[in-house]
Amino acid sequence: MTVIRVRGRALPSGEQVDLYADGDRWTPDPVAGADLIEGWLLPGLVDAHTHPGAEQIADPMDEKILRDDLHRHVDSGVTLIRSPGLPGDPPPWFGHDPDVPRAVHAGPWIARHGEFFDGWGRRADPDGLPDLAAAQAARSGWAKIIADWRDADDHVPVAVLREIVARVHAVGGRVAVHSQQRSGGAAAVEAGVDSLEHGMWLDPALLHRMAAQGTALTPTLAVMQAGVPIVSAREDYPAKRWYLDGVAAHPSLTAAAAEAGVTLLAGTDSRPHGTIAAEVRALAAAGVSTHDALAAASWSARAYLGMPGLEPGAPADAVVYAADPRTDLAQLDHPLAVILRGVRVR
Ligand SMILES: [Zn+2]
Repeated sequence: MTVIRVRGRALPSGEQVDLYADGDRWTPDPVAGADLIEGWLLPGLVDAHTHPGAEQIADPMDEKILRDDLHRHVDSGVTLIRSPGLPGDPPPWFGHDPDVPRAVHAGPWIARHGEFFDGWGRRADPDGLPDLAAAQAARSGWAKIIADWRDADDHVPVAVLREIVARVHAVGGRVAVHSQQRSGGAAAVEAGVDSLEHGMWLDPALLHRMAAQGTALTPTLAVMQAGVPIVSAREDYPAKRWYLDGVAAHPSLTAAAAEAGVTLLAGTDSRPHGTIAAEVRALAAAGVSTHDALAAASWSARAYLGMPGLEPGAPADAVVYAADPRTDLAQLDHPLAVILRGVRVR
């Protein structure tokens, strides 16, 4: 099998690196005859909020759709995903086969009865949510909770969210929480969840607390902005203003989060898959520096998920560009190479 060697300036430091893939580990020890790839190096991209295989409620999941979705991720330079919610329990090859990204996941979404998409996820009354969350986190390391849903609904009570966090942390897991309401976001921050997904309408005054307690924000900007023309074209209804005004405020909230030192995670949420570059551009357009926008989609997200970057001993992932993507985000559309588990997959 061809051994891959990568050489070039690596982000985040911009320092020169020269590494060989010894199986799925980077090493500085030279291997004769290695296939040299040169350019600007990132330790692989990360999509931290994606639901491959979704938009089908079938259980078990359609493995062909799931694998096709994952191929789109790999093709865009993504070597690691986090799935905060899946249509069902994923097959054993998910996150492991040579042609699909590494993956962490929360299994099926967890929501209250009557909330969220009909037929999706596992359901309980509020008092039953901590049991479901702890059991899921024990299986896969994460639990995903829908804390609020429609604009006029109440949110999962903060006491329940606190209990979920305590129970999930007790089994060594982490909690991701969906929120698009001011009060639901405040409850999630109050409860000390590990990541706030979307965070639309979040009170910016809570950002410093999020930074201090290590609650990450996945703003999913691009997918929310993509909904604007569709929602704008509809007749007026109460949720229309809630959505449009929330999306309008979201870029400045996201930039303020970066400013406050909140860990930002880049996530694309829905179909089509493989659009992480669009989210990086949306973060940059919001006023996040290109360095920090790339961090949210690469080294910073990897660190948050427990995966080191381009260094000796680290898992052998990389994405290679012809030029510094910080000065030219269009580079993201044209990676020279994608290396996953020490193998060139693009
Ligand atoms: Zn989602």
